[in-house]
Amino acid sequence: MEKIYIFGHKNPDTDSITSSLVMANLETKLGNNVEACRLGNINKETEFVLNYLGIEAPKLIEDVEDGANVILVDHASNLESVPNLDNANILKVVDHHKLGLSTSYPVYYRAEPVGCTQTVMYKLYKDAGIEIDKKIATLMVSAIISDTLLFKSPTCTDEDLKIAKELAKIAEIDIQTYGMDMLKAGTDLSSFSIEEILKLDAKEAMFKEIKAVINQVNTASIEEVMKMKSELENGIEKVINDKKLDVFILLITDIINSNSQVIALGEKVSLVEKAFNVKLENNTALLKGVVSRKKQVIPVLTENA
Ligand code: MG
Ligand code: MG
Ligand code: MG
Repeated sequence: MEKIYIFGHKNPDTDSITSSLVMANLETKLGNNVEACRLGNINKETEFVLNYLGIEAPKLIEDVEDGANVILVDHASNLESVPNLDNANILKVVDHHKLGLSTSYPVYYRAEPVGCTQTVMYKLYKDAGIEIDKKIATLMVSAIISDTLLFKSPTCTDEDLKIAKELAKIAEIDIQTYGMDMLKAGTDLSSFSIEEILKLDAKEAMFKEIKAVINQVNTASIEEVMKMKSELENGIEKVINDKKLDVFILLITDIINSNSQVIALGEKVSLVEKAFNVKLENNTALLKGVVSRKKQVIPVLTENA
């Protein structure tokens, strides 16, 4: 049987990396020939999880060949996937984002409006009657903690919380202690260049005619990250020129107090001002209570474009 490549989105987060590993484990147990892959570098938070378990990251790939069999996890959009997705054969999608894909053939599509792909994945394991062992449970619960910022994000549902608690038992972790250690590990930007920071968790999106990148950086101290403001701005200007963007939005998210400082540059920063009803001063503003790009940022940008 031909190999099936499983991968999450570009600029992968903990959910994308762990979902490819967890889906690969499930598919292997179901007798399929699969390989867990990733479309970019591992961030510090994901590195914490992989080191905790002593396991390797999925294989780094840049693209797939024409006709390759693929399973997408934690994304359902061309913009966030391999460049050659249109010529690949999408077998399955397991996701928790808005639908951003169209195919000319039927696809197994399992998506739910929950906080994390792993919450959906948990149900796939239950449906298939496959046991969730300690390692798989740790991968799953780590992603739920990551995507929901320890259940504080408005994307977090009762189901995410309930399943995460169950998984934490199997994983034998104290969810608060482990979760905080993991999230804090992700705020360490010291080993990354400005260019890398601006790519770590960046998503491209179109808001009508407006071409945007929205990048999110987690921190325990907005002030610390703002010390790099002018370097970040120079880096952002470069990305805007290279990618011909209309706006670049950097969200610096305080995981302790649940706010985001935004730095926005480009011709269309007015979209940010309008969407959040703020005035940018020196390209920046505080967005009180905003932590979720998916639920609190993308929708208002879409509505106001
Ligand atoms: Mg993700
Ligand atoms: Mg996710
Ligand atoms: Mg995220």
